[in-house]
Amino acid sequence: MKPSRFEYVLPRSIEEAVAARVEHADTVVLSGGQSLVPTLNFRLSNPEAVIDLRLVPGLDDVRVEGEWIHVGGRTRQRDLELDDAVHAANPLIRETLHHVAHPVIRNRGTVGGSIAHADPSAELPCLLLCLDGEVVAHGPSGARTIDAQDLFEFILSTTLEPDEILTEVRFPVLPERTGWCFTEFARRHGDFALAGVAATLTLADDGTIAWGQLAACGVTTTPVRLVAVEDALLDDAADPSRFREIAALAADVVTVPDDESCSSAYRRDLLVGLVERALRTSWQRATERATARTSREVTS
Ligand SMILES: Cc1cc2nc3c(=O)[nH]c(=O)nc-3n(C[C@H](O)[C@H](O)[C@H](O)COP(=O)(O)OP(=O)(O)OC[C@H]3O[C@@H](n4cnc5c(N)ncnc54)[C@H](O)[C@@H]3O)c2cc1C
Repeated sequence: MKPSRFEYVLPRSIEEAVAARVEHADTVVLSGGQSLVPTLNFRLSNPEAVIDLRLVPGLDDVRVEGEWIHVGGRTRQRDLELDDAVHAANPLIRETLHHVAHPVIRNRGTVGGSIAHADPSAELPCLLLCLDGEVVAHGPSGARTIDAQDLFEFILSTTLEPDEILTEVRFPVLPERTGWCFTEFARRHGDFALAGVAATLTLADDGTIAWGQLAACGVTTTPVRLVAVEDALLDDAADPSRFREIAALAADVVTVPDDESCSSAYRRDLLVGLVERALRTSWQRATERATARTSREVTS
């Protein structure tokens, strides 16, 4: 099918892009087009205007600065995945991007596009939520920062206003003594996952677990933090021998009903298994990092 008629707007600055958002009653933003173009072609979306961001300068800048990794909203997913400075600052980002669709899609799909699209099964919103990341949105009254925990509202719905444009995504640098893992299960590699989990685990100086951060995708109407699991990890007695029991606390977040892919009960079991795997991998990596750091300190 072909899309219904729309006005095509090609702004050359973020101010022009926002002005176009304000001028037209119903607009969409064209970033990588990997989700938008099919919805236009199937006429699931019939906007008055399509605002193409490709000539807006600065939207694909990536830089690691202090404790934050700044990623321009229109940065291609593949460029972020291949960025070695980003990988050194936070290896969970590359591991997560590896699960997003196929390289061909990631060549065009953008980081901001995926987050603004807010598919509950998508990996990048889940990553952002797990890491306590944030986004910057530009609107008619300027820029504002939105924490990941305040961003995702419902299926394909965020707290971005209709006249705002997401211009930057910020991920924190991974702290010392911290391990990481992104794991998911999809019927075929590159398909949207039935469930996925992003995790980090930080060790105290004595090697015990200090805290963990976990989020899941594909299990409810938004990406979701696994708060019960995180709370259990704060217990003094939390150690790898209890990971299976702790992972079981994730099951209650699943609200997706039985569908053509699997039953809700299967998805709950799957999530618990993925959380246990994510905890074990994160713990092992955190231990290796802490050991490598200690030997560096001893030899210097
Ligand atoms: C075959 C296939 C398989 C896929 N598999 C996966 C997968 O496994 N996991 C996954 O996460 N994704 C998957 N995707 C989606 C892909 O990652 C898309 O790239 C992503 O969802 C949207 O990014 P985009 O840059 O293409 O955004 P677009 O398609 O350009 O835009 C998507 C939506 O976000 C809005 N938007 C875009 N940018 C902005 C902005 N800066 N400010 C405000 N609103 C904005 C648009 O208005 C639109 O509504 C798949 C896509 C395809 C075609």
